[in-house]
Formats: sequence, structure tokens, C-alpha cells
Amino acid sequence: MYNIKWHTEAAIQSIEKEKISLQDGTELPYKMAMLMPPFEGAEVMQNSPELVDAKGFVICNDGYQHLRYPNVYAAGLAVRVDSPFGDCKVPFGVPKTGYPSDTMGKIVASNIVNAIKGNQKFKTKPFGKMPGICIMDAGNKEVFIFTNHFFKPRQFEIIFPNILGDFGKVILEKYMMTKNKHGWSFLP
Ligand SMILES: Cc1cc2nc3c(=O)[nH]c(=O)nc-3n(C[C@H](O)[C@H](O)[C@H](O)COP(=O)(O)OP(=O)(O)OC[C@H]3O[C@@H](n4cnc5c(N)ncnc54)[C@H](O)[C@@H]3O)c2cc1C
Repeated sequence: MYNIKWHTEAAIQSIEKEKISLQDGTELPYKMAMLMPPFEGAEVMQNSPELVDAKGFVICNDGYQHLRYPNVYAAGLAVRVDSPFGDCKVPFGVPKTGYPSDTMGKIVASNIVNAIKGNQKFKTKPFGKMPGICIMDAGNKEVFIFTNHFFKPRQFEIIFPNILGDFGKVILEKYMMTKNKHGWSFLP
């Protein structure tokens, strides 16, 4: 579709004027190229090496509590998430979307409350087991993604375009802003 030819495990060797060379010798001519830099933790976290891995992501357990410092929690993009299929030839980052960030935030809040109260309740939810719920920009339209788990194996997964345009994100934004403004954290 759209005349897109994809290359997997494609390590870029060099970028020259009008030509990108891959390590396997493939040359890709271009007039306009867009390259995504590797995803890294925020500078403040990279400046805190005791808390993070080499990329600046906080190393947590499934309750989003730091592995070595139990009074430190993280949520959202800041959390280190290991890929479910180990390392590949070309390094890559696990995609993280808004919904799991929100879910982690709630888990962290609940665990901190319970830690302060001194009870043993500790919520956990591995990143890969969270539902994948996302409205994604996809060029001139948006697509809805619903899966029962972020990572495979999944029992349910569906992706479909919003044929009526891109109002889904606008509605979602209004919903999230209203929810957050009123502190209605019981809502998904
Ligand atoms: C281009 C793009 C498109 C995306 N599209 C989608 C999408 O369609 N659907 C979807 O679900 N997700 C999407 N995402 C992912 C989504 O935006 C993130 O998963 C989500 O924002 C993560 O929330 P967060 O609170 O963890 O991090 P962030 O939203 O990044 O919040 C981190 C905050 O920390 C602040 N901060 C950083 N350094 C400091 C410091 N030193 N001191 C104080 N504050 C600091 C930042 O200003 C920022 O406000 C997209 C991301 C990008 C970049």
C-alpha cells in the first residue's frame, strides 16, 4: 500500500547528500529523509545514574518501584521496559503510549498510599500485560487500536481507521482534561 518498501534490521552506516547507506551495502536514494533518533530518558534522569539504565530509564519492578531504592517510584515514559523478544541486531526502543503511562501513574499512587499507611497491599501490572488502547495519528486520518495486552501473546487485537476524520483525539483530549481537572481518577 502507498508504494512503501520496508527494510527490517536495517542499520544505517552513513548519510550522504541524496543517499543513505545501510550496513549490508544497500543504498537508499532520497530527496527528503526523516530519521527518528533513538528514544532516551529525560536529561534529569540521565543526570541521576544511580536510578537509571544506560539510556536514562528508571529500573523498576512491576509495581513501578525502583529495584534498589524502595522509596523511589516512576511512571510513564520514564520507566525502563524490556522488549519481550530480547535484543535485535539493530537496537530499538519499546513504543510507549499514553494509556500505560496513566495506568502506571495510578498504580504508583496506590502503592505510595499503601506504603505510607504501612499495609502490605502492593499493586502490580507488567507493562506488557496492560491493554493496548490508543488513538494514533496516521497521516491524513486517525486509527483506533484496541488489544487486550500490549505485548503478545494476545487474545484480542483490532486496529481500524476513523473514516469520519480525526475528531477522536479531540474528544479524548476534552475527556482527559475534564477528568484530570476534577480528579476523577476512578475513570479509565
Ligand atoms: C510525536 C509523538 C506522538 C505521540 N502520539 C501518541 C499517540 O497518538 N497516542 C498515544 O497514546 N501516545 C502517543 N505518544 C506517546 C505519549 O505522548 C506518551 O506516552 C505520554 O506523553 C507519556 O506521558 P509521561 O507523563 O510519561 O511523559 P511526558 O508526557 O513526556 O511528561 C514528562 C514531563 O516531564 C517534564 N520534565 C522533563 N524534564 C524535567 C525536569 N528536569 N524538571 C521538571 N519537569 C521535567 C516534561 O516537561 C513533561 O511535561 C506520542 C509521543 C510523541 C513524542
